[in-house]
Amino acid sequence: MKPPSEIRLRPGKRVLFLTKNPELIRKQLRGELDLLMKDLRLEDLLDDINTDAMTPAWVCFDHKPEDLARNAYAGLIVDGKRLFEQDALINGNFEVIVSGYRKGVGSSRETATQAEVWCGIRIAIAASFAPIHAGNNINQGLLMGDHHILRRLQAGEGIPLEEFTKGHDPITQLIIKEGGLFPFAKALEKGEIELPTPNTPKRPMTMGEKILAGHARGGVKYVRPGDAVVVDVDGGYTHEFTTAQVHYFLEQEYGPHYAIKNPQKFAVFEDHLIYADDVARMHPFIPKIEVLRKLQHDFQQHTSCRDFSATDNISPGICHEVAREVIVDPGDFIQATDSHTCMGGVNNALAWGVGTTEYANLVHSGFTMVEVSESIRFELVGRLRANVTAKDVMLYILLTYAKPQRTLDRIMEFTGPGLRTLSMDERATLANMATECSARTAVIEADDETFQWLAAMRPGVDVDALRARAVSPDPGAEYAGGVHIIDLSEIRPMVAHPGDPDHGIPSDPTNGAYIDEIGDVKIDIAYAGSCTAGKIDDFLFYHQVAKEAVDAGLRVANGVTFYIQFGSQAVEKFARDNGLLDTFERAGAIVLNPGCGACIGCGPGVSENPNQVTVSAINRNYKGRSGPGKLWLASPLSVAASAFTGQITAYTPGMFARRDELVSKE
Ligand code: SF4
Repeated sequence: MKPPSEIRLRPGKRVLFLTKNPELIRKQLRGELDLLMKDLRLEDLLDDINTDAMTPAWVCFDHKPEDLARNAYAGLIVDGKRLFEQDALINGNFEVIVSGYRKGVGSSRETATQAEVWCGIRIAIAASFAPIHAGNNINQGLLMGDHHILRRLQAGEGIPLEEFTKGHDPITQLIIKEGGLFPFAKALEKGEIELPTPNTPKRPMTMGEKILAGHARGGVKYVRPGDAVVVDVDGGYTHEFTTAQVHYFLEQEYGPHYAIKNPQKFAVFEDHLIYADDVARMHPFIPKIEVLRKLQHDFQQHTSCRDFSATDNISPGICHEVAREVIVDPGDFIQATDSHTCMGGVNNALAWGVGTTEYANLVHSGFTMVEVSESIRFELVGRLRANVTAKDVMLYILLTYAKPQRTLDRIMEFTGPGLRTLSMDERATLANMATECSARTAVIEADDETFQWLAAMRPGVDVDALRARAVSPDPGAEYAGGVHIIDLSEIRPMVAHPGDPDHGIPSDPTNGAYIDEIGDVKIDIAYAGSCTAGKIDDFLFYHQVAKEAVDAGLRVANGVTFYIQFGSQAVEKFARDNGLLDTFERAGAIVLNPGCGACIGCGPGVSENPNQVTVSAINRNYKGRSGPGKLWLASPLSVAASAFTGQITAYTPGMFARRDELVSKE
């Protein structure tokens, strides 16, 4: 529905403040308290509300927005209990919801926005929004404003709609004015809207700008940050969590005989829920999961898109890992319904996650609308120490650049001689975790290693054709986020700690700390896998540590379960062919088939109670995402070392040869 030209609070409707003090939220939900922004400080409000908290994975098993909205904010847990009981948000009669910084970090799930919208929320107020979440809000017609606007609204002022569109590019302004992406797309189809075309003159461009300019319609040759462009999409994919909604939305908007433009460029994956049947706490949801699986199958049959379904219940792999292996080409512009789509940036592509509405719209039309983001560049120099990996580099960047929001909504570009010392799998970790930085995405500069890797992964591929598509930054390209030199030799083994979410310190990947400064942290679970850390080189890291431990006569520490999960079938084949599995077996580790699993709370390796401590090689530690316990993020080397020592430990080459020291420490 189109928003009115002047926005006012409606009589009888309420404003919900998501405060750090949970009791204030409870009182508002019970209807006992109504707050005013003028009586609060920004620091009283919750920061970093992640989309897992807004709609945890199990809520997303409902694909209809009206159903999933009943469990809005089910993931906000305090002292082991839901802060929002079922229907609490919808019954509260709220139309505005208020929080602090970085609303909507984490997963790209549009269900987080849908949960609010279908509960009657029409305005979200925050100091800043994570980019994918902001896009989902716009596409669903949810207005966004800051705390100053709220103060004026609560004072009875009417705010012109233009204040809600201010700062957005011209096309996004049109989408907001139409009330969301589908109404906008229909108005466009009917010729009711004329799209503006930027006329940016010749200028040096970053890698991201070059890819967008190369895909732009309307004769655009150069772009700059803030330009709004209509761009062709080279490819994309969905998985079991998202395909059903895409299918449902397309049927609703365009009827049962809808078609998509280039089915051979798009794919479906069976990876996220592959292990759901084996997890006890998932059993109540199996009927809903079966519906998601069936609707994904129906979508694939209906559209004839590429099919990466499981065979005999074995997934081909995690979508992002398989996509970089066989789908994403250098220079591509890729859109998929998952926040770690950015991992495709390792192949020198521009790739990011979008919500289901945006995806449905772009597969239907073949193009999408993009506002060109600013860029931030990281020039890597030096070489990593033997006990440090790309994961430590990202934990360092998260702490140093993402926490103060320097990467927010920017395209992170990685270049420099240090980059060339990293393998493609390690570079993939850099690209993968751009979304944890709340960045738009990441692009990795290509070199010979890029093309050799692609040739090895795709026998028979035309490497020269791929090389011709690659982009490099122009000399003089502008980086609004700055150019930062990172000396890899200075990086030390790091973790991200689980915070104290019950007391306002969120579990967040930006909670960086040096392992040698955290003291003794005993663990119950070590998890080695996910799209970030289920690659071939990650397996070589796990094996390096496990082999040293096994050779020293060690097994996984008493009381610790060590799970190792492949990112794809190609990774599994490598591990089998090279004898890695024998070492893992001798170490007492549990090796799992490819898939997402514990990372999304749907597989072996999830914690079962709040007292359990996990050290994990995955990319995000949001509360509750991988079970109720405390989750520390660490590198593949540190996770494997910790599995054998029983506490969070940085790996040191040869450390297990000094068993006497370890034993005396125990
Ligand atoms: S492994 Fe985890 S982060 Fe990666 S795609 Fe799967 S659920 Fe998402």
